[in-house]
Amino acid sequence: MIIASNFKTNYTRGAAKAFIKEIQSFISQTNSEQQVRIFAPFTALDHFDEVSNLKVGAQNFYPVQSGSYTGEIGFEQLEEFGIDTVLIGHSERRHILKESQNFIATKYDFAKAREVEIIYCIGEPAEIRVQGIDAVMSYLWEQFEGIEINYDKLIIAYEPVWAIGTGLTASLEDIEEVLTRLREKLCTPLLYGGSVKVDNIDAILHVKACDGVLVGTASWNEKAFCEMIRIA
Ligand code: PGA
Repeated sequence: MIIASNFKTNYTRGAAKAFIKEIQSFISQTNSEQQVRIFAPFTALDHFDEVSNLKVGAQNFYPVQSGSYTGEIGFEQLEEFGIDTVLIGHSERRHILKESQNFIATKYDFAKAREVEIIYCIGEPAEIRVQGIDAVMSYLWEQFEGIEINYDKLIIAYEPVWAIGTGLTASLEDIEEVLTRLREKLCTPLLYGGSVKVDNIDAILHVKACDGVLVGTASWNEKAFCEMIRIA
């Protein structure tokens, strides 16, 4: 199981580092075997003590090693902290930050060439969901345009846009239907994301074809996140 937390634009450096340390000690004390990922803000990246099944990752990067891209973070700056897992295609970057599929594919190629783990996010907006599963699947497959899926460090996160940060979770049947259809063509781990919380994580992790979760809001509390790792 993969249990990932996305801090998004939250936590100061001190608070994020304290959170990461607390999760590390929880994992060590409980001998948890789950694969835990924490996507921290850039300002909190650091040289953390190694805990074998916990990786701190980057929420974003600009697809260059270094260069003149004012305000952006290149790969050299991630490598400095040993970052080897990144998020690509998150709905907030697609819809709020207006990243095109073309740019997302460029980022994907860049990260893949550096052989880092990629959690690649896909998800449909509400107006597509109401059109039914076939419309949802064709929308999702379009989000693979330009993406070379034969990559052994690829993890897919299915996150319906309407379920992210809204408290609305896709039904277990809907999650299973989408993940099963994805599974027919993909042999990568498949995660679900979108208002996952302590109360629903167990049921979601029992959905067929679900290999883990990507959690935002409900993970921004150390105790709740530890509890989710424990339940998993
Ligand atoms: P949420 O966010 O858990 O707050 O819905 C999930 C995500 O954005 O990855």
